Amino acid sequence: MKWYSQNTNSVLETLETSRISGLSEEKAQLRQQEYGPNRLEAAKKEPAWKLFLKSFKEPLVIILLIAIVLAFASAAYDFQVTGDRQHAMASIYEAVAIMLIVIVNSSLAFHQTRSAQKSLEALSNMRQHHMHVLRDSNWISVAASDLVPGDIVSVKSGDFIDGDLRWLKTAELQINESHLTGESDAISKDTEIVSEDTELGDRTNMGYSGSMVVNGNGIGVVVATGMDTELGRISNLMQDIDDQKTPIEKSVHGLSKKLMIIAGLIILLTIGYDIVKQLMQVGNVSLESLAGISSTSIAIAVASIPDAMPVVLSIVLTIGAKMMADQKGLVKSLSSVETLGSTTYIASDKTGTLTKNEMTVTRFWANGEVYDVEGNGYTPVGDIIRTDGKPVNPKDYQRFLEVAVLNNEAEIKPDDKQNWRPFGNPTDVSLVVLGAKQGVKRDALLEDRGNHDIDIVRILPFDSTRKMMTVVIKENGKYYSLTKGAPDVVKDRTVSAMLDGQVVDIGEVAADIEGTMLAFANNALRTISLTQREVTRDQALNAPSEELERDLCFLGLVGIIDPPREEVRTSVKKLTDASVNVVMITGDHAATAKAIAKQLGIIKSKAARVITGKELEGMDDAQLAEAVLTTRVYARVTPAHKQRIIKQLQQHKQVVAMTGDGINDAPALKAADIGIAMGINGTEVTKDAADLILLDDKFTTIEKSVESGRTIFANILNFMRHELTTNVAEVLSLLLGVFLITAPIGHITEVTPTLTALMVLWVNMISDSLPSFALGYDEAEADVMKQQPRDTNQSILANGMLSRVLIRGGVMGGAVFIAFIWAANQGFSIAQSQTIAFLTLVFGQLWHVYDARSTKTLFDRNPFTNSRLTLAVGFAATSSVLVTLIPFFNQVMGTAPLSMGLYVGIIILSALPTFILSGIKKLIWRMREGQNDDVVEYD
Ligand code: ADP
Ligand code: MG
Repeated sequence: MKWYSQNTNSVLETLETSRISGLSEEKAQLRQQEYGPNRLEAAKKEPAWKLFLKSFKEPLVIILLIAIVLAFASAAYDFQVTGDRQHAMASIYEAVAIMLIVIVNSSLAFHQTRSAQKSLEALSNMRQHHMHVLRDSNWISVAASDLVPGDIVSVKSGDFIDGDLRWLKTAELQINESHLTGESDAISKDTEIVSEDTELGDRTNMGYSGSMVVNGNGIGVVVATGMDTELGRISNLMQDIDDQKTPIEKSVHGLSKKLMIIAGLIILLTIGYDIVKQLMQVGNVSLESLAGISSTSIAIAVASIPDAMPVVLSIVLTIGAKMMADQKGLVKSLSSVETLGSTTYIASDKTGTLTKNEMTVTRFWANGEVYDVEGNGYTPVGDIIRTDGKPVNPKDYQRFLEVAVLNNEAEIKPDDKQNWRPFGNPTDVSLVVLGAKQGVKRDALLEDRGNHDIDIVRILPFDSTRKMMTVVIKENGKYYSLTKGAPDVVKDRTVSAMLDGQVVDIGEVAADIEGTMLAFANNALRTISLTQREVTRDQALNAPSEELERDLCFLGLVGIIDPPREEVRTSVKKLTDASVNVVMITGDHAATAKAIAKQLGIIKSKAARVITGKELEGMDDAQLAEAVLTTRVYARVTPAHKQRIIKQLQQHKQVVAMTGDGINDAPALKAADIGIAMGINGTEVTKDAADLILLDDKFTTIEKSVESGRTIFANILNFMRHELTTNVAEVLSLLLGVFLITAPIGHITEVTPTLTALMVLWVNMISDSLPSFALGYDEAEADVMKQQPRDTNQSILANGMLSRVLIRGGVMGGAVFIAFIWAANQGFSIAQSQTIAFLTLVFGQLWHVYDARSTKTLFDRNPFTNSRLTLAVGFAATSSVLVTLIPFFNQVMGTAPLSMGLYVGIIILSALPTFILSGIKKLIWRMREGQNDDVVEYD
């Protein structure tokens, strides 16, 4: 028999489980072994060898492979035709060395890609769904993957269902299972048996893996997990980690392509130029000179491609994602790391994110009087006193308190240290505490079977669009609908009020209530009205919320304090300095919102504009567009309004981060550039829709993530500056050799390249990429949070990057060429001259790293704060000198040992370009600043 066509008892029996105590932990373990984890099998991973081979498709590797073939061909030619064994061996060495480099390079790329993937996987494991499961009689939170058949689970609005369930108990339960049925409306669920031939979409007593609870709550027993679920049956692919390219990766990719084309043109031009020159001078082209030309072009090809860049880039972004996770901000994709850094608006929920969500009722209005409530936190101890000092009569607020705890699903319990701990919705917890202070408790009310008999009939949970919650009770044979909610929403549905046990027309107290509510709100209190209404049995059982929540009788009003988080003020200040606008969005009353916004520094004065949900509805897109840039507080909004606000901000090309906690917030989170969900109090649905999850629910974590995003981006620019400068220098020094050396100088002929291909490779692989990688770990430059957000529409080469790279690279390349010519003039051998050029390049570049590391100049940052960089530079310097000394490398790379004096001279002189250029820049800036002082008004 199918699960849905038998009664719940026989389902529980078949699954050998209990509705009361659930499975034992032991049994769950055994079943976990039997059934495996509750997970869909992921798409087959790419095998390692394929991943490895992938790197061979990189343009640079292809060029190197061609170089290998050319070198072997040249060796074969020497063996067969010229008989120059020595030259042949040199070519073979070269080929083997390039091959080794290709392999090392591929392995490195492979290893780094794998480890980046691993840490991304680790991050994605951190955001697994959790479910509320009954084990050994205790409700505990269990990772969805640990669910086994027979588990009893409880779900509520905003949860995902993982595993197929048979419902045992439901309350207003509605489920969206469009992923299986295509039906986009939510389906109401109950526990009634349906016939065996019922279609999946009509099996109303079942819940299916992957669906969303959109309303109410329910308890069910797991009947299938993992690939045995309906979802598992239709899909054998699971959506894997999103490995889309980030915007910056895309632009770097585009840049690489452009560089390839430029390199190709340069090479063609060089070869053409050389051949024409030969033809004009000698009348024909010798094979030997062709070999020379081809080795120069190989060197240029290698020189012009910043080969380490893509790998370093993705690693640096991964470092960023890890860095954020360490600070409790969990990003889902690498592009969010980047986007966070360019965020211009952060729209945050008030409750729980900007405030502590530790709600306490401090005042209330009932029976025409205002009362103060004493006591702190969740401890249910505190007196109730009248603000006018007169003695209180508890009877005056008895019913009011009863409704407060009956229209409520929250609880407080003492822990082992006798501290009271809250469970459930914080707003409702505050009402539980209020009631308990006077001995009014929900359990006691429901248990008392004497002359007073109360049962809960239905619960219509709070939702942030309705802004109300209703509980229907049966009390001594009569039915009452108890409604509590936002005062202004409740007001329109209220017709009467309770005064001294009598029902009076609302007109008698309306002004008093309204005045009290405003007074509470102006004092930053969150307000809630409590009402009741007698209904018929039929209404009690079946009426929808619209019908129940009207013709209400007013009982009272509470004012709840929800203190702002202290650290938020500092974060708001920091973000404001960083030109990031902080906006508060709340379902609370405008006056409450304004008072808190003022306390947090989001607005400077109480005169600031607040847009309410109602006003927002009256505005068309154009009007809203005009207002969004300057409005800092939105009150009484519903989740749907959030989407409009985002859209209008995006029209202004703003990068918007938006927080959300409830299920209705999911679309807004998707629409935002950065959707932010709460890790602790957020629903699973919002976590799923978000780009950033705040593991500690704190606003400050957003601020830290923005800072990390900016730091990472700055580091990326830094290493790109470094790499591209080197490429320009390499290409230029080689080109100058081709075009300016027209006759032999000393031992050097007109086809001798300034650097050998292997020297260029060495520079790219060792002295270039290691420090680049280290730059990725750099801490933030002092002023990342003082600058404007990055303009995402701008090319990465904008803002002086291109000119800086061309100038630095040009000067460095010129210096290398001058060193080469100088050496040739001094009569050094080819190998020695090239070695001098090589070391000039290596050290020029290592000095330059410290300049590239700053958006300003070399002199603006302490060079020793990044120990990885110090290490990388030290290693690059030492190993580059060693390869000129060790005979093996001399053979392979074409290097030669130099005199002590030369080494020292090169190391010192190669610092000159960087120091001189940085100095000039510093001077120009000084002068400009001086000028700016005079013209500051025009700025
Ligand atoms: P926010 O999350 O921005 O504080 P909510 O949507 O949670 O906004 O709340 C909006 C209003 O709804 C509150 O000001 C309060 O009046 C009312 N409200 C909040 N929680 C509850 C609840 N559990 N029951 C009844 N009314 C509530
Ligand atoms: Mg809320």
